[in-house]
Amino acid sequence: MPYDLVIVGLGAMGSAVLDDAARRGLRVLGVEQFAAGHPFGSSHGKSRLIRKAYFEDPAYVPMLLRAYELWADLERRSGGHLLTTTGVLHVGAATSPVVRGVQESARLHDLAIECYSAGEMRARFPMMRPLEEEVGVFEPEGGVLAPEAALAAQVRLAIEAGAEARFETRVVQWSRTSGASRLFDVSLSDGSAVQTRKLALCSGAWREANSAELGVPIEVRRKVQVWFEPASDAFSSQRCPAFLLDRPSLPEVLYGFPDLGDGVKAAFHTGGAITTMDRLDRTVGVDDIEPVQEALEAWMPGAGGRVIETAVCQYDLTPDRNFVLGLHPSDPDVIVAGGFSGHGFKFSPVIGEIVTDLVVDGTTRFSIAFLGSGRR
Ligand SMILES: Cc1cc2nc3c(=O)[nH]c(=O)nc-3n(C[C@H](O)[C@H](O)[C@H](O)COP(=O)(O)OP(=O)(O)OC[C@H]3O[C@@H](n4cnc5c(N)ncnc54)[C@H](O)[C@@H]3O)c2cc1C
Repeated sequence: MPYDLVIVGLGAMGSAVLDDAARRGLRVLGVEQFAAGHPFGSSHGKSRLIRKAYFEDPAYVPMLLRAYELWADLERRSGGHLLTTTGVLHVGAATSPVVRGVQESARLHDLAIECYSAGEMRARFPMMRPLEEEVGVFEPEGGVLAPEAALAAQVRLAIEAGAEARFETRVVQWSRTSGASRLFDVSLSDGSAVQTRKLALCSGAWREANSAELGVPIEVRRKVQVWFEPASDAFSSQRCPAFLLDRPSLPEVLYGFPDLGDGVKAAFHTGGAITTMDRLDRTVGVDDIEPVQEALEAWMPGAGGRVIETAVCQYDLTPDRNFVLGLHPSDPDVIVAGGFSGHGFKFSPVIGEIVTDLVVDGTTRFSIAFLGSGRR
């Protein structure tokens, strides 16, 4: 008997689709080439920022509002703690696209933010060292998600609801079955094959190989995350918010997380080597760590002490940094969810809902035309 849906890849997006599709009673199979909880995709590293006043584009805000509801729902259904509300502080010149973008999204969608001068920021967050010309926009509802726990919860709940998940199995190929039935044959690396009515492509940076076919080119960018031992509890999540620092003297936009028990994590958001998945360098060197440590110490002295841990990850970047989400340009029974460009995790449960909407109804109540795979 064919599946209603086969999902290629069980990273953040595939796991969320598996959960939502199973809840809606679909006969669904998720296929993942690596083991559960693996560190080779884009969804590992203990923490991900979530925020509503979206500087990237206010068009994302309705999806974010729904994502917050769905994160709370996932916490309730799984019994796990997945979102820690720390607030997120955005810092830069008054003209910074980050600062202005947050203010614009908040204005358009009536979201709560607090605006600070450099002096006010220093008084509110004494661990931080803003420059005199910098301003801060604080979103109190911003916070930190736990990615590994979220994926594990979604897969567990999906299986309990009747879904199947096959790990350490790669989707080698998929094609239309011959004959009149509108099915797909899906070949797996263990030599087996399954049939399905619909396919969801949630293969992250591995999409690079077929991005031309999707109409939106995807580049892979190497990213390094670094955890530091802080000098004091001034950097604990009870006292210190997560932050994004857009400072022209820095090589790139710096972001970071307070100490949630694993140290202070920091990384550069923009920049990094463009590569391919088969050439991605997973070793971390001094050249990766030192610029992050220097920038963090200048911003929050005492936060960037001994290096505790590092991790390499990748962004799957589209030219406009918007996701690729919608029906495949040449086959409406194939749904694509990729090109998350380094900012997709916070959306993952709503992406799960949208992909399942597209599987079931061919449409969704969310405005996703700007994410369409046919755009230029
Ligand atoms: C360092 C870093 C920091 C980030 N910070 C944030 C943040 O603070 N906030 C935020 O919202 N977002 C953030 N992001 C972005 C976010 O984490 C990603 O957009 C999101 O995790 C992407 O999920 P995905 O499912 O598309 O990709 P992935 O997690 O890479 O999952 C794709 C999966 O598909 C599997 N796969 C591929 N091909 C096949 C195949 N043929 N057969 C079977 N399986 C296959 C892969 O093994 C992989 O597990 C960050 C990303 C990185 C790298």
